[in-house]
Amino acid sequence: MAGAFWCIVEDDRKGMPKKVMAEVLGEAGRLGGPVEAVWLVDKATDDGLKHLGEWGAAKVWLVENPALAAYQGEVWVPVLAELAAKETPKAILAPVTSRQRELMARLAARLDVGLSADSVGLAMDGDRLVATRPVYAGKLLSKVTWAGQPWLATLRPNVFRPAEAQAGRTAAVERPGVAVPAGVTKLVERREEAATGLPELTEAEIVISGGRGMKGPENYVILEDMARVIGAAVGASRAAVDAGWRPHRFQIGQTGRTISPKLYMGFGVSGAIQHLAGMRTSKVIVAVNKDAEAPIFKIADYGIVGDLFEVVPALTEELKRLMDR
Ligand SMILES: Cc1cc2nc3c(=O)[nH]c(=O)nc-3n(C[C@H](O)[C@H](O)[C@H](O)COP(=O)(O)OP(=O)(O)OC[C@H]3O[C@@H](n4cnc5c(N)ncnc54)[C@H](O)[C@@H]3O)c2cc1C
Repeated sequence: MAGAFWCIVEDDRKGMPKKVMAEVLGEAGRLGGPVEAVWLVDKATDDGLKHLGEWGAAKVWLVENPALAAYQGEVWVPVLAELAAKETPKAILAPVTSRQRELMARLAARLDVGLSADSVGLAMDGDRLVATRPVYAGKLLSKVTWAGQPWLATLRPNVFRPAEAQAGRTAAVERPGVAVPAGVTKLVERREEAATGLPELTEAEIVISGGRGMKGPENYVILEDMARVIGAAVGASRAAVDAGWRPHRFQIGQTGRTISPKLYMGFGVSGAIQHLAGMRTSKVIVAVNKDAEAPIFKIADYGIVGDLFEVVPALTEELKRLMDR
């Protein structure tokens, strides 16, 4: 409906919205709504639609088309732009993910409106929206507002309070008649990553990160052991990624992922400004480094000056004991 807060659905490409959508939908509700989800997908599931309704979407604009199986900007952006032009939402919100970062930037350009990327706060000031977003690699927070509507913003995961699912609340599903253009790129190969059994980096409530101090790829197993005990994701610094120890999707920082978990634990990470840019909004920061002067200690809530190869196994044992209680 005109004047609604739209939330672009990030899903697992198997027909289920990701849990970060509870945060986006929850925030749209707190800003005053009306809250609507927009879901571009090849095949939605009833369970997925149920989740969106329970998280507060009054309506789901569902565009189901085989051409939407994989993300292609040149296919998705015209669909959203056409729908937005017809329905005139007040705001379009999406979580910060690799796909949505690109999609929302392209959509902003197409609609000729502003985008607050990586927002960590949103608030209504009278009848305008004001977003808070980090600048200068997270050293400063700036407040921005929009000259025109719709207001486009991507929301950093784990920052906004998720909507409480309300059983029985359902969303009306509307299938708009919009043209889905043909893509100009072709999917040549799709490789599914082997499941690690660990949560996804940007969604995890606890992140354990290993830097150059890990000494080699074979040693990440000790971080994975700890991660399994406490249900954490394992990330890395760029030094570790550049050395080929971890794939790039695990890189935390300015040129990697931005995370905001409840707990971040860095092992053998020095705390370079570019790394901090990706994790400094973590609620609690723990650092383990054998150098007492390592910059990461300046932002850490708790620190251990010591050899990670002694600290990690001892900590894992202690955590096991606590979790078994
Ligand atoms: C444009 C640009 C973008 C960048 N983007 C990113 C980014 O997105 N993410 C990122 O991380 N970096 C990024 N960097 C790189 C960044 O500047 C640092 O070089 C990098 O973060 C360092 O990684 P590190 O902390 O693992 O390694 P180092 O700085 O080498 O630190 C290793 C630490 O491990 C400690 N250590 C060694 N052995 C042990 C042990 N046994 N026990 C305990 N501690 C030990 C050392 O004391 C040291 O503090 C970027 C740089 C540039 C120029």
